[in-house]
Amino acid sequence: MTPPDVPGSIDRPTDPAADDGARHGTSQVDTNPYRGLLPDLPAYACTNCGHWQRWPAPGPLVCPVCADVRNALPEHGFEFVTAKQADELVTGSWRPAPVDGVTEFGTEPRFGLDSRGWVIETDIGLVGFECAPWYTADMLAELRRMAEVHGGFPVLASSHVHGYGALWQLQLELEPRVVCVNVHDLPWTKAFRVTWPADDVLTLAPDLTLHRTGGHFPGHSVLHDSRRGILFCGDSLKVDLDEAGAPVALSAHKAFHAQIPLSHGELREMLAVVGVLDFGTVTTPFEMVPGVTTDHVVHLVQRLLSGPPDAAPVPLAEL
Ligand SMILES: [Zn+2]
Ligand SMILES: [Zn+2]
Repeated sequence: MTPPDVPGSIDRPTDPAADDGARHGTSQVDTNPYRGLLPDLPAYACTNCGHWQRWPAPGPLVCPVCADVRNALPEHGFEFVTAKQADELVTGSWRPAPVDGVTEFGTEPRFGLDSRGWVIETDIGLVGFECAPWYTADMLAELRRMAEVHGGFPVLASSHVHGYGALWQLQLELEPRVVCVNVHDLPWTKAFRVTWPADDVLTLAPDLTLHRTGGHFPGHSVLHDSRRGILFCGDSLKVDLDEAGAPVALSAHKAFHAQIPLSHGELREMLAVVGVLDFGTVTTPFEMVPGVTTDHVVHLVQRLLSGPPDAAPVPLAEL
């Protein structure tokens, strides 16, 4: 039997971040082994969706995420802000998530898609999944403090481009050894550097495994925390909440804004992956929702497979 594919447990001499000589040697790499490998251009965020691009000044003309069928176009044209402008626009905050051992990072007021960065405590240190739209100096200081307490920040990963937020910034500032996105989604990752392109299944830390579902994006992947019973489900699911924040309905989409459903083939693929994972909480790039279980999701997908493709929410009580 071959050993499991665990980035956190592997110190490959070919990995510059794991190579002490590369970190502290006499070469030009200095303390950051990726310096010079990251795109050394100014970063610009789309004001409509928050997607960051590194681009020669005076910045990009089009945001590829908004131009894609899965997002809405900006009604009054594309507009971009620099990192300095983003820093002036938002304040950052963090709080314990509803499940112990996970911290939620976010910004206010709403910027871009308003994504959250989830920071998960594991046996190998902190694992970041998805990212906030921007990280202020205070947020970065808190992440460094947490990394000090919890054994470092070795792994940073994301479900798909709508969850990337300012991932590029965390790679630059925290220097995680592993930056992981599914190999099929590499076209969306140009603002940062993927050090570990994932295949269909990749264990990021003990009891924390990334699984490709495809569907929404070809490389769309979910992260299963089997110890805590959490499915970090990316955009494979949309959860409707009541005013008190309790889940009331579930849906699945290829494109949420345009209400394009997943195809039956995509649903079958999702069911094969998610149906065998045990969870009682789902966590999208926007919220953590206790009370949505494996059974709910299996029943949703089975129901969607029983009729014409449909993007409408199904009440949780019927699942
Ligand atoms: Zn955009
Ligand atoms: Zn999405």
